[in-house]
Amino acid sequence: AQVKGKGSLSFFRPEMDARYVEEQKLRAALRQAVEDEALQVVYQPMYTVDGSRIECMEALVRWKHPEKGMIAPNVFIPMAEEMGIISSITRFVLERASRDCAAWEQPAAVSVNLSAHDLLTPDIVGDILGILARTGLPPWRLHVELTESCFIDDPAAVSKVLHQLREKGVTIAIDDFGTGFSSLSYLTSLPLDIVKVDRAFIRDINHDPRQMKLLKGIAQLSRDLALRIVIEGVETQEQLQLIKENRFADLIQGYVFAPPVDAETATRMLRASGQA
Ligand code: C2E
Ligand code: CA
Ligand code: CA
Ligand code: CA
Repeated sequence: AQVKGKGSLSFFRPEMDARYVEEQKLRAALRQAVEDEALQVVYQPMYTVDGSRIECMEALVRWKHPEKGMIAPNVFIPMAEEMGIISSITRFVLERASRDCAAWEQPAAVSVNLSAHDLLTPDIVGDILGILARTGLPPWRLHVELTESCFIDDPAAVSKVLHQLREKGVTIAIDDFGTGFSSLSYLTSLPLDIVKVDRAFIRDINHDPRQMKLLKGIAQLSRDLALRIVIEGVETQEQLQLIKENRFADLIQGYVFAPPVDAETATRMLRASGQA
């Protein structure tokens, strides 16, 4: 009892107390927003390199806190993972994205981010297929994005899930490629279709010749493995030009073409993007 008393004393230092209370408030607000389905989904197009056509829209979740305004997903997604409510967010985004995509007149695909935890949820495949059936989206119009961190815990289980999804026609993309610390052996052991190269690899491409070489290597490797390449975070015409000239990518996602936009704007952009 003595020891416990001491621990409590140090725990309730006022400034720590305040921070703790703030954190708990934010968590409670997030839990409420998820329950109320008060999150939003925005879309960022992936264009062919010549900018003529949108092939896919990435669904990105947004949370507007009633008082604090927009909270970045880099803040609340890790929080949701810790709280054990990430699968509710994933299901919400999947449902919304599938419904929106099914309503588009153009045959573009929609891409949804999965967390490590999602891939180990029992019957995640059944859940995804159920959402597709309910929203009327054919599986070949759904892409899922996962990061290298998704398969460190249980690579065999994740591999099984990916094979099942792919068998149904879902496209599998590896996100933030090159930023994890895992070996590259997964590129051949997992059923992947797309490599999304992190923007860290193109940020300085116009000034740093070593970046050019790295990107050349990544492009060559991906081609040899029959993977399509998306380069993310392309911001300038100069970057775009280099990517074009060197045939570094199949698709481009970045501010040079478009930032993430609301569903209505996404629908208009698809109409304008010259698709049959
Ligand atoms: P991500 O999956 O790598 O998504 C790309 C991020 O890059 C997005 O940030 C997007 O707005 C930003 N971006 C796009 N083009 C550019 C550009 O040209 N320059 C720069 N500097 N940034 C660009 P966002 O929307 O803030 O999302 C951040 C991260 O949060 C995402 O990174 C993803 O890891 C996570 N996230 C977002 N939505 C979801 C979701 O529904 N589920 C899960 N599990 N994670 C999500
Ligand atoms: Ca992503
Ligand atoms: Ca990414
Ligand atoms: Ca990222």
